[in-house]
Amino acid sequence: MARIAFIGLGNMGGPMAANLVKAGHHVCGFDLSAGSVAAAEAGGVVAARTLADAVNGGAVNGGEGGHHGAGRADCVITMLPKGEHVLSVWHALAALLSEGASEDMLLIDCSTIDVGSAREAHGLADAMGCLSLDAPVSGGTVGASAATLTFMAGGSSAAFQKGEPILAAMGKRIVHCGEAGAGQAAKICNNMILGISMIGVAEAFALGEKLGLSHQALFDVASTSSGQCWALTTNCPVPGPVPTSPANRDYRPGFAASLMLKDLNLSQEAPASQARQRRLGSMRASFMPPRKGRPWGRGFFRHHQSAARAGRVKRKRLQPRRWFRHGWGIRWHEWEWGRQGMRG
Ligand code: NAD
Repeated sequence: MARIAFIGLGNMGGPMAANLVKAGHHVCGFDLSAGSVAAAEAGGVVAARTLADAVNGGAVNGGEGGHHGAGRADCVITMLPKGEHVLSVWHALAALLSEGASEDMLLIDCSTIDVGSAREAHGLADAMGCLSLDAPVSGGTVGASAATLTFMAGGSSAAFQKGEPILAAMGKRIVHCGEAGAGQAAKICNNMILGISMIGVAEAFALGEKLGLSHQALFDVASTSSGQCWALTTNCPVPGPVPTSPANRDYRPGFAASLMLKDLNLSQEAPASQARQRRLGSMRASFMPPRKGRPWGRGFFRHHQSAARAGRVKRKRLQPRRWFRHGWGIRWHEWEWGRQGMRG
């Protein structure tokens, strides 16, 4: 079993670290937030006072020493909000690991960040002599708790071979997407689909309400029809139909609106987007900014659901090319647009 330093014990990192403990790994965690650390401790994670303590197996709460037993961690996992946080932690790791060999160490970043920062992080690991993976996840906080996440990994085959058994303790599907940064590329594309489908589902329920349709009736139809998607069947935006959805937990933050906006922005800022407009993904700007004074931490669905109900969602009329108006429909048209890099 591995000695793992887990950095970033928030909504996702906390339960992921707890699942590593359940699988028999020795996990020492570090987070800037005392609340996150306390929650992770309840899941069996040993709390370190500093990043260095988590990695080097130094003193933990109360000054006890050698929490990793035989010393330094075999693997460091980061689960942080953005690229800047990941790079700052990986730079700190580079400084820490500059003394002493670290060839056997594996660095894994599971955060969702831009491909450029992910490749920069891999470069830092190379310079440290460590193997590394970018391994962002899909499945949300429900998947993080149930150890059913999907991991999309980028990095060398050697790094993937070493990391797969560790990731397997936190997820049920682990896909090697390619070289450095390929995991983030897959994640950005996936989350563009997710963002668009979440918006569609939230707007459909708001429309259903206005048309006098019950939530359950809409769910029963759409969940077994062509409207079926994860945003509906796992993360339904209204209370009732899906017991595990955030709507049944008073929309307690699980996936913050600010993180969804970050992901949608990543899809727009990716180098490939410069020439090819991602039309639906780019419409985020018209509905994502919160109202003045509203915190960004609230769940994405709650944010969009209330915006849709209040009619604050600006609608941009799609302008299909004339010869596309019949037959194939908007969805095909949008796909064709994306493929050819055409503008409306
Ligand atoms: P979160 O805000 O709940 O957790 C992030 C944690 O990182 C916080 O506890 C924060 O204190 C800690 N942190 C920040 N900087 C730090 C530093 N320098 N050192 C130590 N700790 C630091 O976020 P989350 O929801 O757990 O998401 C984490 C990542 O996973 C994000 O990149 C997000 O996009 C991605 N993600 C989230 C979900 C979801 O449903 N929440 C799903 C898939 C992917």
